[in-house]
Parts: sequence; C-alpha cells; structure tokens
Amino acid sequence: MTTLRLILGDQLNPEHSWFSAHDDNAVYVLMEVRQETDYVRHHAQKIIAIFAAMRDFARQLRLSGHRVHYLGIDDPANRQSLTANLDVLLVQYSSCAFEYQAPDEWRLDQQLAEYASQLAIPGRMVDSEHFYSRRDEAAELFGERKQWLMEHFYRQMRMRHGVLMAGNGKPLGGQWNFDHENRKPWPGLPREPADWRSEHDHSALWENIRQSGVSSFGEPSAACFRWPLNRAEALQQLDDFIAEALPSFGDFQDALTYRAWRLFHSLLSFALNTKMLNPREVVGRAVDAHAAGHVPLAAAEGFIRQILGWREYVRGVYWANMPGYPAQNFFAHLRPLPSWFWTGETKMRCLAHALGQSLEHAYAHHIQRLMVIGNFALLAGLNPVEVHGWYLGVYIDAFEWVELPNTVGMSQFADGGKLATKPYVSSAAYIDRMGDYCKGCDYDKKARVGSLACPFNALYWDFFARNSQRLATNPRLAMVYRQLARMSPGDLQAVQARADQIGRSIEPL
Ligand code: FAD
Ligand code: SF4
Repeated sequence: MTTLRLILGDQLNPEHSWFSAHDDNAVYVLMEVRQETDYVRHHAQKIIAIFAAMRDFARQLRLSGHRVHYLGIDDPANRQSLTANLDVLLVQYSSCAFEYQAPDEWRLDQQLAEYASQLAIPGRMVDSEHFYSRRDEAAELFGERKQWLMEHFYRQMRMRHGVLMAGNGKPLGGQWNFDHENRKPWPGLPREPADWRSEHDHSALWENIRQSGVSSFGEPSAACFRWPLNRAEALQQLDDFIAEALPSFGDFQDALTYRAWRLFHSLLSFALNTKMLNPREVVGRAVDAHAAGHVPLAAAEGFIRQILGWREYVRGVYWANMPGYPAQNFFAHLRPLPSWFWTGETKMRCLAHALGQSLEHAYAHHIQRLMVIGNFALLAGLNPVEVHGWYLGVYIDAFEWVELPNTVGMSQFADGGKLATKPYVSSAAYIDRMGDYCKGCDYDKKARVGSLACPFNALYWDFFARNSQRLATNPRLAMVYRQLARMSPGDLQAVQARADQIGRSIEPL
C-alpha cells in the first residue's frame, strides 16, 4: 500500500517538507504530458527547460533514496493526461492515498480537486510551501475596494515580513519606494556583465520532444540554452546575479537598449516559478548584500519590490479574478496578432529587437514586455486573448498565474483597471527617453503623420481620442486629455487617419 504523490513541472522544490524524511510508502510521480505541452503553443526552450529540470529532479530524488515513477513524453505507457496516468498508477502501486501540492494555475487546481474528490481513496492537497502570501491574502486586504493598489499591498508585506524595515514601523532609508531613482537610460557603462549562466546541451531531449509531435516555436539551440535545471545551478545563478548585476539593477531597471538583451536583470524568474528557489532566500540575499554595503538601498529595494511586491500581488489578483479573467476585453479589441510577432521581422526597431530576443532567448525584460511589445499591442487594438496566448507561450517563466494578470491586467488594461491605475501606453517619446532604439530606426520618432512617422505616435493619440468616454475621467490621465484638447481638429483628424491606415495595414509595418 502506497501514497502516490504528484509533483507538477513547476513544483521542483527539493526543500519541500515531503522530502525531509524518507517514506518507503511514498511514490513520487512526475509526468511529461501532452496535456501540458499543448494547451498553448510554447517556445521550444520552455518545453526543454521544464522537461530537463523535471528529469534532473527525478534523478536527484532517486539518488537520495526516494521512490520515483517518471513518465517521459515518448513512454508508450504515457496516456498524455495527468488524470488518465494517475488512474493507472494508483492501481499499479496499490495506493491507499493520493496527495498533490497546491497548483498555481486555476485549470490544474480545478482538475486535481475534482479528481481527488471522486477517488475511492483519500485525496489531499498540501501547501507548495513557496509563496509569502496565501492565494486569498490580497483579496482579504482589499476587501470590497474597487481599486487595488500594489504599493499598499507591498508596504503591508514589508511590515509583516520585516523586510528592509528600520525597526520602528518605518522603512529603511525613510522611504518605501525608490522607483523614481530606477528610471535611468543606460549609457553603455557599466558594461552588461558577461552571461554568468552555463550552457547546456539538450539536443537529445529536443529530438525526443520533436519526435513526439509536440508543436513549438522559437530557437531551441544549445548555444543560448542556459536556464538553470536544478536548485544548485539556480543558487549559483543567484550568487552571480547578486555579485555581478544587482548593484546596477536599480539604476537601469527600466532602460531599453538594442546593445544588450538582459542588462542587469536577474534572469531568475524561471528558477523562482519552478520553485527551485524560494522567494524568501532571494529577497534575503538582496537584503544581506545591502547590509554588507555591496548594493545601494535603491537597487536592493527596487529588486525586492518586484518579488515581495509585484510577484505576490499579481498572484492575489489572479486568484481573485479567476476563472473569468482571460476573457476580459475592456476596450473590445479584436485585431489579430500580426505575423511578425512570430518572426520579429518589422521595421520598427524597438519591436524587432524585443520580439527578436524573445524568440531567440525565450526572454525579454519587464520594460520590453510592458512598454514595447504590450504598449504596441494595446495601442494597435490587438485582441487581448491572442496577446495572452502569445505571452503565455513565448517566455521561459510564463505560467498563467503570473503571466495573465501581467498581460491582461497590467499590459492590456483589459480588466478595466483592476490591476493598473491607468493604461501603460506611450508614444515614441518614452521609448526614446529610456534608450537607444529610436536612433537608427526607419521611422521618425518625432512625426505623427506620414508613412515614415513612428506608428506609436498616431496610435497613441488615436487610442486616447477613441477611448475618451472610458478614460477621460481618470485623474491620472488628466494631463493627456488636456493635451488632446489642445490639438486642432485638423491635426487630430490627420492623426486618426494615420492610425486608421496603420490598423488596416499592420503587416508591412
Ligand atoms: P528581474 O527584472 O530581475 O526581477 C526579479 C524578479 O521579480 C523576477 O524574476 C520575477 O520573479 C519578479 N517580478 C518582476 N516583475 C514582476 C511582475 N510584474 N510580476 C511578477 N513578478 C515579477 N513574469 C513571470 O514570472 N512570468 C510571466 O509569464 C510574466 N509575464 C509578463 C507579461 C507581461 C506583459 C509583463 C509586462 C510582465 C510579465 N512578467 C512575467 C513580469 C516580469 O516581466 C518578469 O518577471 C521578468 O521580466 C523576469 O525576468 P527577470 O527574472 O530577469 O526579472
Ligand atoms: Fe520604436 Fe518608433 Fe522609436 Fe522606431 S521610432 S524605435 S518604431 S518608438
């Protein structure tokens, strides 16, 4: 008689209490299933990274003496669905109980809860022991309030967990937030650190995945495959980030440049989201680096805010808004994604770079995701359901609980402002201010009309003009609407004609 314990592909935490003692009656099950590869078309590196990390996790569990059943994608016994495989394994191992860790995605949470409830043996969900906050903690904090605020949640988290606090309920340095110091363009110095991550060769696994008929896109090659595959590698990458990049993280957190694809970002989201790393240890390392005088407070706070603030907050938004969140479409945008989202081939230099590196590395940093790709998608009226599918597929760290609120809420404002207090959009002026994309672009960053005018400019003013009923009363947009009111009717008409022409002919941009 055994207890069958299911480990999902994003639950690769060897520190989980399940593994603290040996239990000869426990059988740990990991499976590579088409159910998980096919719910959206994924980047090749994402599939490889998750399967390779799962295989490594199974290997390490076996080495430490645990009983493991691993189903590979091409195993003839694999029925390609979690529950169909569980049906067989529960019988095979004469199981008297079934356990699983709390899934982070709504669809898996539903599937496994329903499955467990129908079993003739006890089925039990246990905590994944990963996050600072409970799924419903943000909802509890905000209660019936219509407008949630990340900053409010973040301050509560800082106080509750005693992070960067001065000891008297006040924040270290007298300020909660150093955001205004984190907005510098990157002049080229300090240099982007050399990629501290080691290469992996996954040609055999990739062949295996391809032959199993899994559909994917993006660059699978070993040359750019450097994602951590186990906790030891993830810890090494955390150390290297703290030493090499964190000191400059704050200054250039929002910078955009065609000369670098990661700048001073940590590249830790995959390790965090697959639970190889715990957010507490990542935050703890940043706190210690600041205390040791290695990292300015603004850099440590800027980094910690992303993890203790945004990451926990978007998770709260996700659970509070599921299952209806993916279908939200506040602006009723229906335009399909242009084909160059899958090739990066556009004359718009900012998009060519941000999309190109997403396809090459399965990675773009936050401002590329938000203020280049997402900005264009919202201004151009792309369908948020399609935008969500693209983001969920392309990024190495994309799991619905974190991707969906960022895409549908923060980036596309498709939830009507539940997550963001205003739409994150800009004309070329912001993109130019934050970096060097515009110099050397085929388009004129200053012009609004004419075939060589930067598309962001006409789309920006057209977006606010056509959505004035929805947005003009938003106090954070008062200045934009004052500027719009000052535009002459002739100029506005010309801008709208250019935006209309862009919308009808988006492919050749
Ligand atoms: P760093 O810049 O080094 O930040 C450190 C860590 O903070 C990240 O590893 C991440 O865990 C966390 N973090 C930072 N910003 C956010 C945020 N807004 N929400 C949640 N966590 C955050 N992040 C994902 O992990 N998965 C996604 O699928 C995802 N989709 C996104 C889609 C859009 C449209 C946008 C605008 C953002 C998205 N993000 C997502 C948030 C953020 O862009 C990534 O976490 C970050 O770029 C990952 O790179 P990094 O590890 O180098 O992050
Ligand atoms: Fe992007 Fe416009 Fe700048 Fe070109 S000019 S890089 S399209 S913002």
